[in-house]
Amino acid sequence: MRVPGPAEIDAAGQAAAALDPRVAEVLRRWWGFETLRPLQAEAIQTALAGRDSLVVMPTGGGKSLCYQLPPLVGESTDVVISPLVALMKDQVDSLEAIGYPAAALHSGLSAEERSAIRGRLRAGELRLLFTAPERLVNSGLLDTLAEVGVKRFAIDEAHCISQWGHDFRPEYRQLALLRERFPQASLHAFTATATPRVRDDIAGQLGLRDPAVLVGTFDRPNLVYRVVPRTDRVAQTLAILGRHQGEASIVYCVSRRETEQLAAKLAAEGLLARPYHAGLDTKERHRTQDAFAKETIDVVVATVAFGMGIDRSDVRLVLHTALPKSLEAYQQETGRAGRDGLAAECVLLYSSADVFQWEALVRKCAAESELDEEEQERLVASQVQHLHAMRRYAQAARCRHAALSEYFGQSYPAKPCEACDVCLGEGESLPDSTVTAQKILSCVARVDQRFGVRHVCEVLRGAKTDAVVRNGHDRLSTYGLLSQFDQRAAENLVHQLLDQELLARTPGDRPVVRLNERSWEVMRGERGVVLLEPQTGSKAKVTKAEADDWQGVDRDLFERLRRWRRRVAEARGKPAWTILDDKALRIIAREKPASPAALLRCKGIGEKRLADFGPAILDLVAGREPPAGD
Ligand code: ADP
Ligand code: ZN
Repeated sequence: MRVPGPAEIDAAGQAAAALDPRVAEVLRRWWGFETLRPLQAEAIQTALAGRDSLVVMPTGGGKSLCYQLPPLVGESTDVVISPLVALMKDQVDSLEAIGYPAAALHSGLSAEERSAIRGRLRAGELRLLFTAPERLVNSGLLDTLAEVGVKRFAIDEAHCISQWGHDFRPEYRQLALLRERFPQASLHAFTATATPRVRDDIAGQLGLRDPAVLVGTFDRPNLVYRVVPRTDRVAQTLAILGRHQGEASIVYCVSRRETEQLAAKLAAEGLLARPYHAGLDTKERHRTQDAFAKETIDVVVATVAFGMGIDRSDVRLVLHTALPKSLEAYQQETGRAGRDGLAAECVLLYSSADVFQWEALVRKCAAESELDEEEQERLVASQVQHLHAMRRYAQAARCRHAALSEYFGQSYPAKPCEACDVCLGEGESLPDSTVTAQKILSCVARVDQRFGVRHVCEVLRGAKTDAVVRNGHDRLSTYGLLSQFDQRAAENLVHQLLDQELLARTPGDRPVVRLNERSWEVMRGERGVVLLEPQTGSKAKVTKAEADDWQGVDRDLFERLRRWRRRVAEARGKPAWTILDDKALRIIAREKPASPAALLRCKGIGEKRLADFGPAILDLVAGREPPAGD
């Protein structure tokens, strides 16, 4: 299978300029968009031509439009396979908001609802039918689809078919059946996972025939990435959330307990925050999802289990309070920020302690699994490899956009991105880094390399703990040498040394810090050290993208539009962003259209939205309150 190079991707971007007039018409009428994003035009033309395709685009790149648009052009009924009910429902909601005839067949429906949908399907009323793989193959649905002559299938999250992907779902394997049952139909696989091995596997498993392989650019220029040394999880989280008051934020933790504790602390500070994890009962989870979608809460504190099912295009902050397990996971989780294309922030609070913790956990899980020894080793090796790629990203003092792009096999221009902590020069180095490092290392030597990070730091700070006194460490020459730092800051500095391999640590449950060859070089003054100031992460600069997004926007009007949208969402029981997303609201608050025709020219307003909301929006722009119920 051939993968296009960067040159072809550029060419693809330009091709979007000369849009098929039928496509352009549908795009304008239904979505109110004037242009397609790079690769969308190709993906759509390929679908219209009935040629198989494999489309790889990052999260937020606009994959859905690629299968939503074609059935409107030829008035066909197409089928979308999707792994999760929540994903299908959200999409159907946002399609219904523009008057698009779509439905989802899933296990949550009553028998009547199901038969109503089948009726619409037989009558040819639907343009898109969403369903899950197990329902597709096990419910006689295939016969009905054959009867109505379905000619196109889109397989969303197609990496779920591959065991090399990060989210293998065995039920996806059954989709191999599609090729046999529908030899005349075309198959279109969509994924955000870019590794060549997964791509080849998808094409093989689905039996794609000479597919057009369209690989998008993985960089997300509207996201600003920051990595901040973790010193105080709660204080730093509060400081960072403080930059996003009233905006949608997702905060990730590793454990369920952490999500609950952190959410409670944030709520105590007056933030509209709730925890979300797989251990909560379904009702509670739905309540939180719903509140987030309808904008009655701003912050969700979640384990990484959160998100697959939830969608809000205006998430302005994704904050990881602990290290994700892989860059694939990080790319996917941060991908939930700024899907509307407006500037958004992704912050990772980093401590190398997480790396040790994950490693221990990976080994434990493998040991407890039913795999044989060799398989266990292979699993551990692969997971540790992913973990270390993540760690290298966090530690490296180089452009985050460049590092991410290169990891996913794409080159990045060699100039400052203006959207990461490194290029913005936000990390401040500690004055006298080398001397500070020497103090720490000699303290490790003085305690005979027999103690862990915490104890070493207690000695350095001059703390009088039991262990310090019992071991006579309050009489060491290094006792109290770093008394200007608190415990967290001191530990952070030790972790920075561990990260730079200027200090070592034994594996196991009770790790002890040890000196290595490089430690001695530092102590002998043969090697200089650069340490970062252990900061709180509150020193972020405003990026160009952030400033541009607000250029000319009447913030007051924007807030009034948001309040109106919240009311409409509540009344209709729909996620707020499906009514109209933030990008459209900002355009309206910038252009201030005074007539229906002017409103229709705003991106995001198609004919259906104009009919539904035009009068209310025009009222708001003119400074009038729209009548209640609108
Ligand atoms: P993905 O499925 O790839 O994660 P989506 O299909 O959800 O991404 O699209 C992300 C966002 O981009 C959505 O808010 C969508 O409305 C918007 N979008 C998609 N295509 C276009 C376009 N051509 N012009 C403007 N906005 C678009
Ligand atoms: Zn950068």
